[in-house]
Amino acid sequence: MANPIYQALPTTIFAVMSGLARELGAINLGQGFPDEPGPRAIREKAAQELLDGDNQYPPMPGLPELRQAVAAHYRRTQGLDLDWASEVTVTSGATEALACAFLALLEAGDEAVLFQPTYDSYLPMVRRAGGVGKLVRLQPPAWRFDRVALEAVFSERTKIVVLNTPLNPAASVCPDEDLALLAEFCVRHDAVAVCDEVWEHVVFDGHGHRPLISYPGMRERTVKIGSAGKMFALTGWKVGFLMAAPPLTQLLSKAHQFLTFTTPPMLQTAVAWGLANSDDWFAAMPLDLARSRDRLTEGLRREGFAVLDSQGTYFLNIDLAGSGVFEDDMAFCLRAVKEAGVAAIPVSAFYEAAPVTSIVRLCFAKRDETLDEGVRRLAKARDLSLRAHNSAGR
Ligand code: PMP
Ligand code: GLN
Repeated sequence: MANPIYQALPTTIFAVMSGLARELGAINLGQGFPDEPGPRAIREKAAQELLDGDNQYPPMPGLPELRQAVAAHYRRTQGLDLDWASEVTVTSGATEALACAFLALLEAGDEAVLFQPTYDSYLPMVRRAGGVGKLVRLQPPAWRFDRVALEAVFSERTKIVVLNTPLNPAASVCPDEDLALLAEFCVRHDAVAVCDEVWEHVVFDGHGHRPLISYPGMRERTVKIGSAGKMFALTGWKVGFLMAAPPLTQLLSKAHQFLTFTTPPMLQTAVAWGLANSDDWFAAMPLDLARSRDRLTEGLRREGFAVLDSQGTYFLNIDLAGSGVFEDDMAFCLRAVKEAGVAAIPVSAFYEAAPVTSIVRLCFAKRDETLDEGVRRLAKARDLSLRAHNSAGR
């Protein structure tokens, strides 16, 4: 009766943890969204458009003014030469753009190379599109791949490779050397790279972002995906960008036309305005977030937690084993939200068949007081966990 892929699929960890946080009144350091409401001027623009603008269907590929603003934005910030009319499509979030790419590019039995930890929508959607996931497991603390790992997964059946950099949940930025290696494999195997770059502007400490589409041989075989929700800290807006050479764009549009067809016009207009008027925001946002990252890192380290480096995204990870906690990530996260009032994300949710990890992801895009209280509650969860461990051992 039901499709077996969906039948076997658990509810996404983000909904589970945010649901528990809401129900129990816990602080939510789980799902990645900021405490702050996002840039007021952009929200005002959307509000004004809602009242006075056109609220009927926008064109299927998106409003020309937004597609032009997207092309101009990437020319300015990443030196890309995208033709707005034939290479830029507006989608309902990066989530829809990813679904378009998988549905339009894969046929039954095609292989898709993915890196674990894998953002949780990829594998189910690849499989629903008929694809077979070939997984490369990345290891902390560097979360890198190498030639041997790629040789093991690329084959004559490889159709796509899915790259997420900066990587959610690892919070790592893929180094230039690894990008060049991946480009070499894509060209050699005639594979398309689906690049989830929603965190491209959320990078710290001078890391910068180099899109894979700019590497030799990649211009015609890359699908670049962005998200206004991440650019402007308006995660509920679900305005995404799908960018690719004209033949790929034409193909992906066939998926887009029957997934959502279009995205609310007032949001498109406001994002177009935001892209043209936000140089100050783009300069300040990563600095503010790096300060929050440092505050959470220092608080956690003071409490004895082992904190992994965060080079980008809203996230950092703690290693429970290295922090003296003898519980797996899921058990610890359930204890933290239920007994200590703080929600977090177990990183095992980003691995196939949920192998147990000892890594827990925390969102630091929060006010100082939320972060400080989060640290106190995580320390409480750690103490409760130790007490349970000790009494079980007696
Ligand atoms: N990809 C990654 C790696 C993400 O972290 C997210 C959301 N945080 C998305 C895709 C989805 O983006 P959107 O909300 O624009 O659909
Ligand atoms: N991408 C967000 C995160 O990693 C969650 C998005 C969602 O809930 N679908 O927290």
